[in-house]
Formats: sequence, structure tokens, C-alpha cells
Amino acid sequence: MGADEVARGVKVIYGQELSSNVYLLDDGRGKILAIDSGAYPVINSEPAMLILTHAHFDHTGGVDEDWKNVYLHEGDFFDGPFFKIPGQAKKIDFEKLRWGNFNLEILHTPGHTLGSICLFDRKKGILFSGDTLFADGVGRTDLGGDEELMEKSLSLIRELDYKLLCPGHGPVCKR
Ligand SMILES: [Zn+2]
Repeated sequence: MGADEVARGVKVIYGQELSSNVYLLDDGRGKILAIDSGAYPVINSEPAMLILTHAHFDHTGGVDEDWKNVYLHEGDFFDGPFFKIPGQAKKIDFEKLRWGNFNLEILHTPGHTLGSICLFDRKKGILFSGDTLFADGVGRTDLGGDEELMEKSLSLIRELDYKLLCPGHGPVCKR
């Protein structure tokens, strides 16, 4: 599957039809952190780590059952509508993650789902927004989400000084 480089060390596999985008972050030595997996397998080898922005099947369906380091926010560990929780998924028990040159903050941004997260590299100004924020508007709350929580989360992330938005669907864009 072809992947476009959108920033140094960051590749995107754009989702086709329903499937989510997949982001691949290289630590500089070929160790890959993946963000989301798509609806079906598009990542061709096991990433060293996979973080899911939420539990909707179009983001989680591409997880191979043999992959080890798969993480999801604890708020999404229930049987919600359109959820598909990989059996091996672990709860995210860290607020920051260093991956090569990347320093990622894990931001809990409920609304689209209760356990939705964004990942933010403050220094590089890159925001991975899952289904909370898209290039052309805000995320949906009609798939089991919560409007009020979404508003709060959106005001939180709009404050962030990001330059590049890497959303769960649609194009990557500059702010
Ligand atoms: Zn979703």
C-alpha cells in the first residue's frame, strides 16, 4: 500500500471509502509507531506500537490478532455502536510518548466517542486528531458520541498551536 510523506518521518496511508487514514511515524531507525489501522489490513508489517484514536471499526479493523503493542483509551473499552475492540488492546497508561524525534502528548478528547484521543507534538506542531477534527469541519457525534463533550474537546484542541492537521479521514492539511 502506497504511503505519502506529509512531514519528516510521518507517512499517511489515506483511507479508501469508509476506512480511516493510517499514520506511520518512523523513529529514525525504522521502528514504526502506527496511529490507527484502517478498517481492513493496510499496514503490511507489524508496527512496533499501534495507538488507536478510538474503537470504531473503521480505525481498528486492520489490527492483526498477532500484533502485540496495541493501545486504546480506557474510555472506549465497552461495547459501543460500531466498536471493534482488538482482543489484545491495552489501556493507554501514559500521557506522553517519545518516539525518536517525536514527543507526543496523548490528549483525551471525548465527544466522538468517550475514549477518543488526539496526539500532539507541540514542538513540531503536528496534531493527529482522529475523528474529533477534520480538514473541513468537526467530527460526528451521531455514532454514539456526545455533543457537549465534543464542544469542550474542540475548544481544547483549537487552542493548540498546531501547524499540520492529520485527521482520521480526509486530507492532511496545514492550518
Ligand atoms: Zn469514528
